[in-house]
Amino acid sequence: MNRGIECGKYLRAVLAIAVLASMPFGAAVRGQAPHRDALPAALQKTEVKAAKRPRLVVLLVVDQMRADYVDKFAGQWHGGLKRLVEQGAWFHDAAYPYAATETCPGHATISTGAFPATHGMVGNGWWDRDAGKMITCTADPKTKNLGYAGATASDGDSAWRMQVPAFADELKFQSGGPTKVVALSLKARAAITMGGRTADDVAWFETSTGAWVTSDVYGVHPWVDEYVKSHPAKADYGKTWTLTLPKTAYLYEENAVGTGPPPGWEHTLPHPLRGKTGNGDPDKDFYTQWQTSPFADSYLVKLGEAAVRSLHPANGSETDFLAISFSSIDHIGHAFGPRSWEIQDALVQLDRDLGDFFSVLDKEVGRGNYVVAFSGDHGVAPIPEDVTKAGGDAGWLNMAEVQTRIESALKPLNYPKPAVAKAAGDEIYFAKGVYDQLKGDPKAMAAVLDAIQNVPGVLRVYRAEEVDDPQATEDPIRKAFAASYFAGRSGDLLVAPKAYWPVGYAVPGKERAGGTTHGTPYYYDQRVPLLLMGWGIRPGSYYRAVTPADIAPTLAELCGITLATRDGQVLAEALQPKGNGISTTR
Ligand SMILES: [Zn+2]
Repeated sequence: MNRGIECGKYLRAVLAIAVLASMPFGAAVRGQAPHRDALPAALQKTEVKAAKRPRLVVLLVVDQMRADYVDKFAGQWHGGLKRLVEQGAWFHDAAYPYAATETCPGHATISTGAFPATHGMVGNGWWDRDAGKMITCTADPKTKNLGYAGATASDGDSAWRMQVPAFADELKFQSGGPTKVVALSLKARAAITMGGRTADDVAWFETSTGAWVTSDVYGVHPWVDEYVKSHPAKADYGKTWTLTLPKTAYLYEENAVGTGPPPGWEHTLPHPLRGKTGNGDPDKDFYTQWQTSPFADSYLVKLGEAAVRSLHPANGSETDFLAISFSSIDHIGHAFGPRSWEIQDALVQLDRDLGDFFSVLDKEVGRGNYVVAFSGDHGVAPIPEDVTKAGGDAGWLNMAEVQTRIESALKPLNYPKPAVAKAAGDEIYFAKGVYDQLKGDPKAMAAVLDAIQNVPGVLRVYRAEEVDDPQATEDPIRKAFAASYFAGRSGDLLVAPKAYWPVGYAVPGKERAGGTTHGTPYYYDQRVPLLLMGWGIRPGSYYRAVTPADIAPTLAELCGITLATRDGQVLAEALQPKGNGISTTR
């Protein structure tokens, strides 16, 4: 029996019931206090007391934030990041236990409290074997995207491929009141996975057009429309990203080794936002520069502040949910690496902006009335050239080379040509029928595995059936692949790289553009910050090994709701005992 498929079927059934049940229910009770009149007076009093919970749950995710950025750079901070570290519960040893350390799996894990083997978001995209094409994790052919501020939008996106309800879905369904859910990011795969299926306001940014968009699943909302109309991203055209602190305040070299800046930028700051040509036209290159700068994160903070005001949290007794994923650190990290002045400066600016954001929350929601969960969706590898320059073993595992060698190994044998349908990330998808044929042909299978094993940077190769049972092994790398394996979506072969050998697709003989990436089962890709602050939280430093899948169960405990399924656990040591005046923000 195939565990992945059975698990998926079960969850789809649970979700279908939950979604069907939630729609009429959610619509009927909005703005009402259900059934309260029918209760005796004493019970009404008890119910009101027992329902005490935070007015607002705030989820903040910094895309590609390594945990050691807090350890190394906190001395440069004086605003919101510093407040999280000093006043929050800081889990120092938080890491994803799976191999697919990418944006969509990370956000879905934080959002649901489950791992990819359960929630099914196995990558930012995967090979759709039936359609014979790559699909993104949020692509939904039954929906249509809508543009804000009069912009046009293409395609359709939703959370329908996520096999487990988001914490936000559960909060909205179970609170039985006018709970509102808002999720914002530059990326659809971050905003949608955090907001879930039943969110109210979800918005993301289309880099190719500079438009803010949403899906008809969520609809267009006036407060976003008004904000985007009066604050177009192109208003930042012509600005320059300069160093915030004196040069002596930054760690490492000003010119990091092996960087790959976006078009129109040099290898060191300052970076002007004038597109590639600088001819006054906010083109696609300008929007690429914008999203690779602190200006985009500042924009998201301000949009988040507008969201807080739209929620009117001080008036309501229900718990609202606001999630923001900051994407710029990811774009900056890919281009300049984790040992760059750009990363440090962008975090200094995010720290300042989050300080302002928390001040707005203090004023609008009330200090101590909200809880903040802060984390990253994955880390990042150092730039391989930076490691080799220091004498380490590093490089790029070239998956194009892997694909070529598989075809060569099968060429003399009776297999379709080409035998590989797609190499995506570290995974190999064979053409229809090829993998089944290989499974019954040990000699050919051995030839394929040998061919892959000889590519520089390959640690080992797993066959799908080897990772479809996470209980079967104690090998940590194989276990990590098992935790992000979902039958039907994941590849037939999974190529595990050596440490410091990120996966790339460089064409042999051509110079790579520079930069680095993530997506492997190594600690530098898996380890992220995890901090909680505010309502119900006991501040302190905690060193137990935890995962970001623990965030949703912990928020559920604080809000008095139950998740249908979870792989994470409640971070009990960071919670105040219930019933003794829970508000703890200092
Ligand atoms: Zn990411």
